[in-house]
Amino acid sequence: MRRSSIIVHAGLEPNPTTGAIAPGFEPSTIFRYPEEGYHAAAYGYSRNNNPGRERLERAIAALEGGEQAAAFGSGMAAIQAVIQSLGSGMHVIAPLDVYHGTRTLLNDFRDRWGLELSYVEISVVDEVRKAFKPNTALLWLESPSNPMLNLSDISLIAALAHEKMVTVCVDNTWPSPILQQPLALGADLVMHSTTKYLGGHSDLLGGAIVSKTGTGLFENIRKMQQIAGAVPSPFDCWLLLRSIRTLGIRVKQQVANAKEVVHWLTKQDWVDTVFYPGLPDHPGHSIAKKQMSDFGAMISFTVKLSPEKVLSMVSKSSLISPATSLGGVESTWEHRFSTEGPLSKTPDTLIRLSVGLEDSDDLIEDIQQAYQLAR
Ligand code: PLP
Repeated sequence: MRRSSIIVHAGLEPNPTTGAIAPGFEPSTIFRYPEEGYHAAAYGYSRNNNPGRERLERAIAALEGGEQAAAFGSGMAAIQAVIQSLGSGMHVIAPLDVYHGTRTLLNDFRDRWGLELSYVEISVVDEVRKAFKPNTALLWLESPSNPMLNLSDISLIAALAHEKMVTVCVDNTWPSPILQQPLALGADLVMHSTTKYLGGHSDLLGGAIVSKTGTGLFENIRKMQQIAGAVPSPFDCWLLLRSIRTLGIRVKQQVANAKEVVHWLTKQDWVDTVFYPGLPDHPGHSIAKKQMSDFGAMISFTVKLSPEKVLSMVSKSSLISPATSLGGVESTWEHRFSTEGPLSKTPDTLIRLSVGLEDSDDLIEDIQQAYQLAR
């Protein structure tokens, strides 16, 4: 099947009893044993597995071209499962500009989990090469990164890691599987905050790990999912699978809108720098062209105003919601430095914009009027 067909059909078979095309919703936490004393049924207890979660996992695995997927109650729960599946005393390499939640998790629990950490400029291959140690078990990667949209060459870095027998996990939340497929580029695992593009409507929290194979580290991740139980509810699984059906068309239109907004932003004299990998002068443009099918719907830009005025500008929009998170059908933006807190290295005049499905001319007018009110 081609991609658009996979997106619509992955994980689904018509109900064998009723013939229903749309999947059912099974909130039951328990399932009858098929016969007296016989416990090896397909389903027993919902924390271990249940029909709706399995359908969702099949769909997400198919989207990323993986053999297996494990769904979690949030993106952070998925990240935690990967990290806790490593042995104690293991070394993890992560990007200097890794998502701030991942950084907080790693930093705050490194001692309790016996982790050794190195943060490196992951877009600079020589820095990655120098970071490996004999106990390195995992290389974490985000491309494009959040919020600076730095690009890393996934296939090059995965090849380096594999020479050292190191597992590569790519947080593919930002591009979504529509624009980038890290397993095909050589990664071993893909992580998603399904809260973002896969969910797409800002109404559910979720996470997932997709594995190229069902073996190795993924077996521990599966155990962690089932025994620690940070799993999504049957309703969230159902809702997420429903949302995934329109993922392809949503992302395509969001990217088209983003390009219009980027084009306009680059012409405004009050805009300092636009960070968008689709711009030919973006330092990661050639890598993006090589490993992404398009450049995404996330834009960061710095404004020639004081940080206080930039913060105020974000609150002056009428169509774009001043809110965190991303990937929803509605556009959102935020003063990212304030969200990340005082240790943030993000420029304090930077706005991060997640472009939704509104008309791009309305978005442009909204940005223009917010600037006029704030300046
Ligand atoms: N990874 C990235 C790139 C994110 O942007 C986020 C959330 O913003 C996460 C992981 C964490 O996901 P969640 O909020 O679903 O726990």
